[in-house]
Amino acid sequence: MLDFTLTPEQLELREKAREFARREILPVVWYFDEVDEMPLFILRKAYEAGLMNLNIPEKYGGKGLGLVDQAIIVEEIAAACVGLATSLFDNSLGETPVILCKNEKVKEKYLPEIVKNFRLISFATSEPLMGSDVAGIQCKAEKDGKDWVLTGTKYWVTNGGYADYYSIFANVDPKSRHQGICAFLVEKTWDGVSVGNSIPKLGLRTSNTVGLEFDHVRVPEENVLAEPGEGFILAMQTFSRTRPIIGAFATGAARSAMEFAIQYVKKRRAFGQEIGNFQAVQFKIAEMYQKVETARLLTWKAAWEADTGKDPTITSSITKFYATEAASEVVNEALQIFAGYGYTTFYPVEKIYRDVRVLKIYEGTSEIQRIVVSRHALSQYEPVMPPLEDLPRTRAEDPKKASREGMKEQKAWRCRICGYIHYGDEPPEKCPYCHFPQSTFKKVWPEEHSKVK
Ligand SMILES: Cc1cc2nc3c(=O)[nH]c(=O)nc-3n(C[C@H](O)[C@H](O)[C@H](O)COP(=O)(O)OP(=O)(O)OC[C@H]3O[C@@H](n4cnc5c(N)ncnc54)[C@H](O)[C@@H]3O)c2cc1C
Repeated sequence: MLDFTLTPEQLELREKAREFARREILPVVWYFDEVDEMPLFILRKAYEAGLMNLNIPEKYGGKGLGLVDQAIIVEEIAAACVGLATSLFDNSLGETPVILCKNEKVKEKYLPEIVKNFRLISFATSEPLMGSDVAGIQCKAEKDGKDWVLTGTKYWVTNGGYADYYSIFANVDPKSRHQGICAFLVEKTWDGVSVGNSIPKLGLRTSNTVGLEFDHVRVPEENVLAEPGEGFILAMQTFSRTRPIIGAFATGAARSAMEFAIQYVKKRRAFGQEIGNFQAVQFKIAEMYQKVETARLLTWKAAWEADTGKDPTITSSITKFYATEAASEVVNEALQIFAGYGYTTFYPVEKIYRDVRVLKIYEGTSEIQRIVVSRHALSQYEPVMPPLEDLPRTRAEDPKKASREGMKEQKAWRCRICGYIHYGDEPPEKCPYCHFPQSTFKKVWPEEHSKVK
């Protein structure tokens, strides 16, 4: 049975996150956006309020929440600021390879520490010369005795300037692409790790983004998250579980833009009346509402698939590109409704507009999600309908009686070139439309080939 009712616990979580977002985040983010700085103290408050590290299993001291629960919380935080939502939940992104990996020692050492002591952990596959093509990682990992030595650079590392730990993906042999990819948990204080300047951005300015350099960084074997050849899959499994959360970012941001637009159309007047009286404006609101609801439904479905042990990869990708593109459209329309005022920094919509733009880029661009989904649709998806050339079709010998008395069916033959259907005991000598010979006709009734599965 499908049920979209939130449990009392989920309602409580939502209330807590909503209250935190309204009270602690909303009033201050405009300032931190202006000065282009991440307010670390808010992350600490969120940690103290129990709103971080939600995915760490109870075994390691965490809350062990599922993705649906996390999506509910994230929507509320993102409704106040997508940048802070990104930084708050970046810990979950950094933790996911640790949680999913096979190395029990690394889990026991780091996960309880993150839960107990407000530690930040970032995730890095991207590099200055590579983002979408994860198999193209150049950061080099070399075995030296029992240790590994890392050399290379990472770019776009969210929270990287503040993080204590990094989940780093590297390659033993960049030419071998997927086959050489491995992953490690690296500590920021280790020799050879350096952090670059905060990267200036269009939006998401309340979230810290930096480049990292690894200069012969020695990593003990206890810190291996994925052996060579296992890293690519670990990265993809991580994305399947974090992309639904990007859907929740998009839903929260779009919801706020819609709410601000609804308020505005009831207040702003033009041509002697509220602009909300114009049907063109009402239809914009309806479409915003439709997109917010659809984005949330997809997000919850992807999260539910992950929580119930199904492979969430395809729904996560669909969610990622649908919800993030829908959010861009909703915010764009909200700005149009606010018109001149929407373009100012006095009203909230321009910040949301700048912030949501990144959602179509990070954690796999919209184009990459389309590749994932189209590949699945074209090669693995199992159709219900029979092949086109077997498509069953017949007609009644006596059309007047057919609907009352049931039909006496005629044999039917389909031309495989132009699709023409010929009724009769034998196919025609040639197709009367495309002129191809009798051999191009295939019997489609009575059915011989396709069976309903
Ligand atoms: C604010 C921010 C925070 C980020 N945080 C992190 C982080 O914490 N950790 C991390 O690892 N990364 C992070 N990223 C990086 C992000 O994941 C990458 O930017 C993203 O994956 C795209 O990579 P790219 O920018 O190198 O673009 P490229 O891969 O160079 O792509 C350029 C363009 O080409 C298109 N393209 C590429 N390949 C194909 C193809 N096969 N078919 C069709 N089109 C294609 C892309 O869709 C894009 O439009 C962050 C990025 C930003 C902006």
